Amino acid sequence: MPELPEVETVRRALERHATGRTIDSVHGQAVQLRRPLDIGLLRRRLPGHRLTRFRRRAKFLLVDLDPPGTLLIHLGMSGRLLLSDPASPLLPHTHLSLGLDRALELRFVDPRRFGLVSWLALGDEARDPTLSALGLEPLDERAPRELPPLLHARRAPLKALLLDQRLVAGVGNIYAAEALWRAGIRPSRPGHRTALPRLERLVDEVRAVLSEAVEQGGTTIRDFASPEGNFGDFAVRLQAYGHAGEPCPRCAQPMVDDRLAGRATVWCRQCQR
Ligand SMILES: [Zn+2]
Repeated sequence: MPELPEVETVRRALERHATGRTIDSVHGQAVQLRRPLDIGLLRRRLPGHRLTRFRRRAKFLLVDLDPPGTLLIHLGMSGRLLLSDPASPLLPHTHLSLGLDRALELRFVDPRRFGLVSWLALGDEARDPTLSALGLEPLDERAPRELPPLLHARRAPLKALLLDQRLVAGVGNIYAAEALWRAGIRPSRPGHRTALPRLERLVDEVRAVLSEAVEQGGTTIRDFASPEGNFGDFAVRLQAYGHAGEPCPRCAQPMVDDRLAGRATVWCRQCQR
């Protein structure tokens, strides 16, 4: 599943290559994604609109258009966005293809169909129930100050709190496990039983691991490619996720794999307290 760093990588690539381009055609079929893909509506709305800005909120991409309107995109479990030569063959499961200046096509490919592409008119974004329920952006400059007290006020295990999108938006299983390992904190430790300085360290580690992953261009653990087709190589630097049974890089005790809040959680019993 694409996580925040992968989505940020896609956002940056689109910003570089598609800003200022104008949509000249819309092709696709009405399929059931996370929300139904309304091809008829997109065909009526999008042609003639210029792509002005690419934003990210948690794992959502927001493409601002001129005349005003926004395309809301989520990659779901297996979604990809490709910037393709219009002459290149469509990949299987290409649900939507936007022609840009007759020079490029922005293609949305999603075999498992948990993604979404939908049109937001002006004002719809603030009213969207999913978007408005999202918590703090971990990479936002407010996070180091505001997030530790929010974690400290909750009784749930820290791993579950990091994955709670209403509290902190866009942190997935991989990066939650990695940040807890780096901070030396047991994933099941309750928020309110963790001293504030340790929570500040944890938030710093969440930000560090996400930033490093963004810099590396996203991980390659799962089915993902950035629009330019580049695969990141961050996977080699993950020290917790995917390393159950191997010696902890810090203390050499074997890392264990537990289930917590229904998710696999790799951690070190020796040095995560
Ligand atoms: Zn250890």
